[in-house]
Amino acid sequence: MNRRKRILTGDRPTGKLHLGHYVGSLQNRVALQNDFDTFIIIADIQALTTNFDRPEKLKGDVLNVAMDNLSVGVDPEKATFFIQSLIPEIAELTTFYSMFVTVNSLRHNPTIKSEIQQYGYNDIMYGFLGYPVSQAADITFCKADLVPVGDDQLSHIELTRRIVRRFNELYKPVLVEPEAMVSKISRLVGLDGNSKMGKSLNNGIYLSDDAATVKQKIRAAVTDASRIKLSDKGNPEICTVFKYHNAFNEGEVNHISESCRSASIGCSACKNNLTARINNILEPIRERRAFYEDRPEQVLEMLISGTNKVRGVAKEVMKEVREAMSIGYFDNSGCC
Ligand code: ATP
Ligand code: MG
Repeated sequence: MNRRKRILTGDRPTGKLHLGHYVGSLQNRVALQNDFDTFIIIADIQALTTNFDRPEKLKGDVLNVAMDNLSVGVDPEKATFFIQSLIPEIAELTTFYSMFVTVNSLRHNPTIKSEIQQYGYNDIMYGFLGYPVSQAADITFCKADLVPVGDDQLSHIELTRRIVRRFNELYKPVLVEPEAMVSKISRLVGLDGNSKMGKSLNNGIYLSDDAATVKQKIRAAVTDASRIKLSDKGNPEICTVFKYHNAFNEGEVNHISESCRSASIGCSACKNNLTARINNILEPIRERRAFYEDRPEQVLEMLISGTNKVRGVAKEVMKEVREAMSIGYFDNSGCC
């Protein structure tokens, strides 16, 4: 039987979602939810890789991340939200994969390498090094076909594809090889000029920031440092604010670029223009968020029913997996 194609996508509950999520992944979720069976993971185990010493932080951010998804228009009637730690089959599948994934393939993963630098790790935790394997389990336990992600995740999806091929070859072809889907703006820069806006990097404009906060953050954003006076000609290519115009101000981006190069617009006016544009985009998002903030019990209910539904899918697929691996010894025996 032909099944509807499935999407797996999600976020770590490490803080509120920002504009990088909006362009990198959330907009695709909203656009695709009508045509795909959409699963949204709140990856709390993956969040533990960098928060194992403050796990009490996660609970609030589980709700925050769910509300941010809802606030951009992910429809709880169409998409299914679930919490990673409540699906033990994902942990089981991670263990199975970890038997044949090599440590070197993880150590050479470019995203892991840059995150090690960003977090300033001298030594790497076993769980952190292995999170791409856990992510492969997140994607494959529900046989997802498509994964909308930012470009920092591409090397992880590639690993997932290799794991699927290896598993299917070693045992039986039961797993589905997923494809990544990256959006036009697949990596939004941070306000500090860092190549990535990231929740854990504290360099973002959050979907829930109020208008005054957005204004103040944009005012302090890094621009072309060599442009000091209004009459200095600017170089938009090295300006963070211009990159945001490119992502959020399609109608005016060419004009802004020319005006900056010819010094006919100053940084301050350019920033005010961007602030107005971004606040315009964020206003309906803030309104929807306020609706759900007033109804946290509705959000919790959605998380519980989604997680229950997904658990059913996980049990079925894991039965196939164990059978393929010839370790379904006592399935149907009434044992456990
Ligand atoms: P953390 O810093 O805690 O890892 P994060 O900002 O990287 O948080 P994640 O929850 O790890 O957010 O990522 C969720 C999804 O959002 C992923 O698909 C990721 O690629 C995408 N994403 C995150 N930041 C950006 C960005 N700056 N530009 C584009 N996509 C992004
Ligand atoms: Mg991340």
